[in-house]
Amino acid sequence: MFPGQLYKTESGRLFHAGAIGIILVGLPARGKTAISRSLSRYLRWLGVQTKVFSVGNYRRQIVGVEITNDFFSPANKATADMRTKIANACLDDMVQWFAEGGQVGILDGSNATEERRQELVERFKACNVHPMFIETICDNPDIVDANIRSVKVSSPDYVGWDRADAVEDFKRRIENHVPFYTTINDLSLSFVKVINAGERIVVNNAQGFLQSKIVYFLTNLHISRRKIFFARNGVSLNEQSYRADAPLAPAGHRYAENLKNFLLQLRENYALSSPTTTATQESPRQLTVWTSSRKRSFQTAAHFLDHEEIIVRQRSILAERHPGVCDQMSPQEIQEKYPDECQRATNDPYRHRFPRAESYYDLANRLEKVILELEREKNDVLIVAHESVIRCLYGYLHGLPEAEIPSLEIPQEVLLELTPTAYAIEERRHKIPDAVASVNWQQQAANFISLAGNVPASPVYTSQYPDSSSSSSPTSLTPASSFATSPRLSGQLKELTDAF
Ligand code: ATP
Repeated sequence: MFPGQLYKTESGRLFHAGAIGIILVGLPARGKTAISRSLSRYLRWLGVQTKVFSVGNYRRQIVGVEITNDFFSPANKATADMRTKIANACLDDMVQWFAEGGQVGILDGSNATEERRQELVERFKACNVHPMFIETICDNPDIVDANIRSVKVSSPDYVGWDRADAVEDFKRRIENHVPFYTTINDLSLSFVKVINAGERIVVNNAQGFLQSKIVYFLTNLHISRRKIFFARNGVSLNEQSYRADAPLAPAGHRYAENLKNFLLQLRENYALSSPTTTATQESPRQLTVWTSSRKRSFQTAAHFLDHEEIIVRQRSILAERHPGVCDQMSPQEIQEKYPDECQRATNDPYRHRFPRAESYYDLANRLEKVILELEREKNDVLIVAHESVIRCLYGYLHGLPEAEIPSLEIPQEVLLELTPTAYAIEERRHKIPDAVASVNWQQQAANFISLAGNVPASPVYTSQYPDSSSSSSPTSLTPASSFATSPRLSGQLKELTDAF
């Protein structure tokens, strides 16, 4: 049965079942896969059942990776038929997935011709799925070149290839697509054109709640490299009470000072070790500190105010999860007083809310604005917050299933460093040293980076987003070694913390 009415998602949210088939359009190396994955991660975070269907993965599964560029040549009739078969196999699976209740399917392929796009429109409309196109156009050769070098040469298609040969081969692949690629001109269609990595956005005929969300999300995306740091608040004079909103304890101030010194030194070391010339040279990034208006958060972040060039922004939506009736109670007291509620919390830790409290789900909804700002931000950001807030934001960035979020361990006195890349998030963890032991800051921060080879010395953990189960990549097609699917993040967290 195809959707067409209100129904409940697995997570219990009500959605109008006007399913959307998102169709990517564009030449190779224009960011179609990167956009598909980021969008999928965001929609899943909103609770929308979303899945990416990658034509490239179907090609690799059906014909393998040992193909010549002749395969993509429009003049080659035999491979043209094969390419159509592959694209249709992917499309058939997507249509089947809609029939099983999927809400937003994302077709990641070049869909370069008007004719193909018309076929897709008809196929989707026949099963009550609204087609929406996202075309990514890029005529900046520096961006295309950087894209090829940063991700294409390490794709499964080029395992074992010489790097320079792979770059040339990929450029020929693009050339093969150029003669039959046309931009979308049909104004009756719903489409968004993302031009030169977000320099300009053109929106046509986007309707409804979910499509507006998708458009707004796309306007926030960019490809600048930046880092997102997370650190917990310092300890306060009354850790037990939310209502008291107590100021930082002396130990909390010491921690805040240590955090500031360590992070500034770490950034300085990164700046020293970064390459001076790249195709898309970026200027040094500023640091902005985001914190809540809760005293212990703000007072931790306030230590950065000594530095004029660092902006500290206070945001009330970054406040910790409200504990409701559990305020000032120990876990044991809560268990004794509310055994039934505790059982419900165990059964559904993400959605359960104690009386007058916020659930993680409530908190996540409150944080959606922060997530969009994080996507938009081009500078480095440090978020100083309570563990519950960091869990939610960290869970989003890594594309974790919601059930894992409440039990993530975000240790005190650890600085998390997350670097978004095209398809994944890289993570490093740093133990914030204790200044009482009269620390040599430069040495401590340098321990994590080898200045010599520009190679990070601390372990880097990579998680693909969204998690691999959400993509239509068959297991035999797990993408390139450089984007190795990580073990489950929760397992990693322990490993990372134990590494200290
Ligand atoms: P292919 O058709 O070969 O699958 P693709 O269009 O899917 O190529 P991606 O694999 O997504 O291209 O390319 C990833 C690269 O594109 C990354 O370097 C990423 O930074 C960059 N990128 C992401 N978004 C955009 C965009 N809107 N415009 C141009 N490049 C982008």
